Amino acid sequence: MRGLTKGQVLSGLGVGLNAVVAEVFRVAPMQALPEFAKSTKGADAERVSLKAAIASVSAHLDELAAASDDTSADIFEALKFLLEDDELFEVADGHLADGWSAAAAYGLAVNEFAELLGGDPDFDERVKDLQDISKRVQANLAGIKVGLELPKHGSFVIVGEDFSPADTAQFTSAVVGVITLKGGPTSHTAIICRSRSIPAVVSCGEAAHLVDGDIVLVDPVGDRVVFNAELSEATMPIEFIATGREPLVPVRSNIGSLDDAKKASSAGANGVGLFRTELLYLSSSSQPSVEAQTALYAEILAAAPEGPVVVRTIDAGSDKPVPFLNMPHEENPSLGVRGYRLIVEHRQFIVDQLQSLEFARAHTGREVWVMAPMIATAAEAREFAALAKSIGQFKVGIMVETPSIVTQIADLKGQIDFLSVGTNDLSQYLFAADRMNPALGLLLNPWQPGLIRTLARIASESLAAGISSGVCGESASDPAFAVVLAGLGMKSVSSSPSQVGAVKAALSAVAEADAKRIAHEVQNFSTAEEAKAFVLAELQKLS
Ligand code: PEP
Ligand code: MG
Repeated sequence: MRGLTKGQVLSGLGVGLNAVVAEVFRVAPMQALPEFAKSTKGADAERVSLKAAIASVSAHLDELAAASDDTSADIFEALKFLLEDDELFEVADGHLADGWSAAAAYGLAVNEFAELLGGDPDFDERVKDLQDISKRVQANLAGIKVGLELPKHGSFVIVGEDFSPADTAQFTSAVVGVITLKGGPTSHTAIICRSRSIPAVVSCGEAAHLVDGDIVLVDPVGDRVVFNAELSEATMPIEFIATGREPLVPVRSNIGSLDDAKKASSAGANGVGLFRTELLYLSSSSQPSVEAQTALYAEILAAAPEGPVVVRTIDAGSDKPVPFLNMPHEENPSLGVRGYRLIVEHRQFIVDQLQSLEFARAHTGREVWVMAPMIATAAEAREFAALAKSIGQFKVGIMVETPSIVTQIADLKGQIDFLSVGTNDLSQYLFAADRMNPALGLLLNPWQPGLIRTLARIASESLAAGISSGVCGESASDPAFAVVLAGLGMKSVSSSPSQVGAVKAALSAVAEADAKRIAHEVQNFSTAEEAKAFVLAELQKLS
């Protein structure tokens, strides 16, 4: 039987602290759509079928939006907007008049629209959305199911290549565990599973051998899936003993919406360590006014947990397209005009953002720190600091996401108040590994010695330069890794709202001297696996 034997370990990257044993449910790839064909029933009947299919897909998108969180609901809203476009229907209607079937007419119309928009990366996301709705309408007409066919009852570990935002929005309560063959620690699947506390192992290529009905142990703490094993065999998460002490460093939270700000408050975060402002505007086709921005920022500041609120100016580009910025075509967008580099073409938007934040700060009386993303030179850092200070009463800082700025921290002495390490992008640029490429998950593992040693350098050089350093990438959501960060000398960490409690518990349980010793010794290992195993064993001894 496929060469899998009882107790066989399939390695990957774990997400979360709890393990689960359940039956495998393999997500089947979608059935192929029929070829475009001429109508056999006439244009009028095809028009009726097409209208009914559009209405049915629209209702389905409403259901998906209603069952999902804010971010996923926006995705479905954007799809619906295109689906109900009158111009698109008119073009399809023309093809019906030429004798095509409803599915073919709609498919041809979408292809024409996509061709018009194609080649312009500003519209890449729109083209993908158009193709998605075309697939949904054609599938509806052919009676083919789109999206995941997930069980609604029972308990299953679902296994697939990787899952899109639209897929994860459909996870039912029957999904008790997730395994992906691809995807890394910052993949959408990982982020959603962490925030919903679903045990997951990503980047687990060997899971390709699993079939429906297999029983597996999903063991995220052990970074593995075990074939035919019991829950008692799971690697135990470390039970940190409650000490009632304050955590070694403040545990802030990452937010991207009002809802996140509320969750971060309920989780007891010590302020916000990263407010990703671009997430508010991923589907905005027109630039928000200063008034609109001020009102929204003020609402979010008021809901944010007590403590400073670190706001990042817009980080558009690459994986985060913001429609109203009309960004130019680039062959290699993650190495292109993204983050603070937008200052050249979109200075006024960044100025407006800082102005709106200053109004919101004055209105709410909150302590606001502002930072710029994707800083690569000391000159950029200085320029941003001067601009921000000329607009508002902020502490000013930068994100450390490029290897070049790591070498220039000493040059920033007296220029900035703080820095925040974005380990998601820092790993991407340090390892030359596209964070969106699901095949490169292992290089993006934060336990890689190359990353840990770089973080050690950042912490010690910041200390020497009198700059407060923190980490806000996904790595700071892992309680054991957070202990290493504090031990290295980072002055704060910022985790996703769902991980704040676990990270706080870890940082309250470990004494400073132990964290420092562990952080020092972990730098001696030459593989990610050894480094992680060492830290977990040390923490186990202390717990
Ligand atoms: C990072 O790069 O680690 C980071 C926090 O920024 P983002 O994930 O939004 O790019
Ligand atoms: Mg980043």
